Amino acid sequence: MIYSYYIFYNYNKKSVEQLVSQVISQCNILADQVLVNQFAISNSQDNLSIEIDQMANVMDGRILVIDSGYRVVKDTYTIEQDKYIISPTVFGVISGGSGMQRQITDNALEITLPILNAEKVVCGAIVMTVSMQQIQDTNAYINQQGNTLNAIFLVLSVLIAYMLSRFISKNMTTLNHKLTYMCNGHLDEPLQVKGFREVEQMSDSIDRLITKLQVLEDSRQEFVSNVSHELKTPITSMKVLADSLLLQEGVPAQTYREFLVDIVEEIDRENEIINDLLTLVKTDKKSASLDVEAVNMNALLELLLKRLRPLAAKRNIEVEYESVRDVVAEIDEVKLSLAFSNLIENAIKYNRDNGWVKVSLNADHKFFYVKVQDSGVGIPEDCQEQIFERFYRVDKARTRQTGGTGLGLAITRNAILLHKGAIKVYSEPGEGTTFTVRIPLNYIA
Ligand code: ADP
Repeated sequence: MIYSYYIFYNYNKKSVEQLVSQVISQCNILADQVLVNQFAISNSQDNLSIEIDQMANVMDGRILVIDSGYRVVKDTYTIEQDKYIISPTVFGVISGGSGMQRQITDNALEITLPILNAEKVVCGAIVMTVSMQQIQDTNAYINQQGNTLNAIFLVLSVLIAYMLSRFISKNMTTLNHKLTYMCNGHLDEPLQVKGFREVEQMSDSIDRLITKLQVLEDSRQEFVSNVSHELKTPITSMKVLADSLLLQEGVPAQTYREFLVDIVEEIDRENEIINDLLTLVKTDKKSASLDVEAVNMNALLELLLKRLRPLAAKRNIEVEYESVRDVVAEIDEVKLSLAFSNLIENAIKYNRDNGWVKVSLNADHKFFYVKVQDSGVGIPEDCQEQIFERFYRVDKARTRQTGGTGLGLAITRNAILLHKGAIKVYSEPGEGTTFTVRIPLNYIA
């Protein structure tokens, strides 16, 4: 619409300008001839007079030739012939020296042009009035055509917009229906809505989100069932022990004592599981906050080894510590102590008698690295990823012997991830295991 109005406006302007310049050039030609004839055109039989009449006819207008005394020497309509005329424009052109004047009214163009002699002195004026009816007719025609086109475009665009919006909303309605269906508990079927690319992308994203939530839900359920199972086992043992004492008559005091020792062991185990569970919750990403301070890592590892050496000594396991340089890092001492002590304790627990454990510390300008190596039983390749999962143990039958809840490495990994670090395991069954830990020296919030 704007474009059609722009074209219409320019066309109108251009046509008027063309008419004006055409009229001016005709007036100039006439002015020269009037001068040559020295205004002798009163006789309608004169050649010049006939020429002026013809020109007025061709231009579809009226021509007045006025001399310097304001007398009309020629009027093609003959109404003003030989009369005196003093209109403001004529006066301005002949006496006022205003130069050429032009006036545009609704349907006529009037040009008043001075007749200048060789010395540029005004000797009279020519007034040419031409009709603008033709221009206006053309304008009206173009305007009408433009309006018709605009109306067609308007109807078409409304139609296209309506159809498009119906099409888009149809896809959205399908998506909405399927989502409502899912909300009613049918989460197993994927959405897979087909249609616009954006709708398909949205449907795919929702499908991925649902899969992720399902994985989370599955892992939550597995965790709850594992926790219940782990907590129930010591209680079941305690109940069996207590029941067997109650069911027997005249049990000797010695047997009572032995059974009570077993019950106390089970209570300790229950306690250990609960403590580990609490620690796991504390190191969980969502709830954990770190108490970061600059800690001397050499001193920290040496202290942990000092505490654990008696455990290693029981099975004659040699514990070595190697430090390449002094390392001070910004860490949460409590959480990382727990992580490293779990790793070292495991290296001792899952070792052979007379074996060895090597702990080493190194650093570069960005990270510090801790390596815990042992000569123990090793971890089969297919279990190496799972050992970090909660309650996962490679050899479930040995649990009683070695102790442990299966939560140690999960706690360790949580603590390391909280520090934006990484942990990796390399192991050869029967040969030994190596855990490597990498943690940034400066805490990244
Ligand atoms: P646990 O309380 O049973 O030690 P962890 O989470 O600390 O639980 O370890 C998970 C399992 O990974 C252990 O049960 C053990 O089978 C295996 N494991 C961990 N560290 C070692 C190691 N240094 N050598 C061999 N096996 C290991």
